Amino acid sequence: MSYTKRKDGRKFDEMRKIKAEVGVIKNANGSAKFQIGDTIAIAAVYGPRNLYPKFLQNPEEGKLRCNYNMLSFSVDERIRPGPSRRSKEIGLVTERALSPTVNLKEFPNAVVDVFVEIIQADAGTRCAGICAAAMALADAGIPMKDLVSAVSVGKVGDKLVVDLDKSEEDYEEGATDMPVAILPRSDEISLLQLDGEMEAKEIIKALEMAKKACLELNKIQKEAIRKKYKGEGK
Ligand code: UDP
Repeated sequence: MSYTKRKDGRKFDEMRKIKAEVGVIKNANGSAKFQIGDTIAIAAVYGPRNLYPKFLQNPEEGKLRCNYNMLSFSVDERIRPGPSRRSKEIGLVTERALSPTVNLKEFPNAVVDVFVEIIQADAGTRCAGICAAAMALADAGIPMKDLVSAVSVGKVGDKLVVDLDKSEEDYEEGATDMPVAILPRSDEISLLQLDGEMEAKEIIKALEMAKKACLELNKIQKEAIRKKYKGEGK
């Protein structure tokens, strides 16, 4: 059966409502909150600071370390606190999505810690976390060649869609979820995962949809950063 209408009335290439804010955690060197629909991520950046234990240090450059966590109350069914296989995987892909943009050559033996906390989840949390983390890194003044924007695209029933919510991910007749992260200036893709099945030509089309959405996201991220720093340095 054809997937004719999205439950929330969005067009197939339309993202949910987005809110972005920078500087939400005073104690952190940089922080941000990113909300897309009912998914909310908070990111806090600490560092550069000395990396311990010492054997992990790299005298050539600093290390980016990302931690992803979904809070127990972020979904209806309480999530068991503490690390899981899923949270470790998402921490790792977050790190890989952000690594191509940060330059830590100036910070030998140091670490930049990024903590992503999902306070409310309705699918697309890794992408929301990456968007928040990129903004938090910029807020912390970490040298970066670009921001990173991320969104999940995919297929629900027979339709290609942007930004699947949980009801779409769980669509009875089948759904495919493809989270994508992009460095908008260079068009570099730093995250591409695929959970489900799509034909090659659908993947190409979905990627185009992701790129377009990421350009929109990028504008919102930049606007949030500008909002905090507007008027400073004059
Ligand atoms: N989810 C959940 N409990 C869990 C893990 C995930 O309810 O322990 C939900 C949550 O809404 C999440 C969605 O399933 O956003 C999809 O999770 P997935 O692992 O596909 O990652 P995401 O799409 O959040 O990046």
